[in-house]
Amino acid sequence: MLSAVMEDYLKAIYTLSEETGERVSTSQLAEYLDVTPPTVTSMTAKLAERGLVEREKYEGALLTADGEVVALEVIRHHRLLESFLADRLDYDWSEVHDEADRLEHHVSDRLVRRIADALDQPGVDPHGDPIPNADLELPADATTTRLDAATPGDRVVVRRIRHRTDEELRYLADAGLRPGAAIEITDVAPFGMVTVAGAAGEQSLPAEVAHLIEVVPAAEATPA
Ligand SMILES: [Zn+2]
Repeated sequence: MLSAVMEDYLKAIYTLSEETGERVSTSQLAEYLDVTPPTVTSMTAKLAERGLVEREKYEGALLTADGEVVALEVIRHHRLLESFLADRLDYDWSEVHDEADRLEHHVSDRLVRRIADALDQPGVDPHGDPIPNADLELPADATTTRLDAATPGDRVVVRRIRHRTDEELRYLADAGLRPGAAIEITDVAPFGMVTVAGAAGEQSLPAEVAHLIEVVPAAEATPA
């Protein structure tokens, strides 16, 4: 049996290496999980002993094939739970993440199958994150651009919101930035704020927040 903390490490390594395609350093993991580097070192050593993580001194950690299976299972749980809470229990889009973060470690395969059946095997969760299917395969991802790399004048539709906390989601929900929202980029300051105009008016977002938002050109967006 793996602890919830071990599962969180595997999920974090998966998420960080998915974004960059590279090994995940101890300091990156420490920052992401909000723990100290020595804590990360001792936990990744335990995961390596179990054959779930491969460590290279000074180069960071990667998941083994077994580690990736666990990470994808936990991600499947998380995203199905978020979908279920939003769809069936009337949770707001911005308040499902923290709940799913707790529950994801404790649901049985049977319950997860039932949730997937009840929702008719959804391909994406309420934040636009793809949900691995029962064979842990991810649906093909649309080609998206991060909002911080957009150009003024671009008209785009929000496709996916990367997130770590409900707090981030609430901030974006208040700014009217939900998957499916149509916006126009009105200004991009060098190394700084991205200003967008949408149904909720004009909003200026710090670059690191804009980086969480994946968009597609409005012309290519299929209606939600
Ligand atoms: Zn989430």
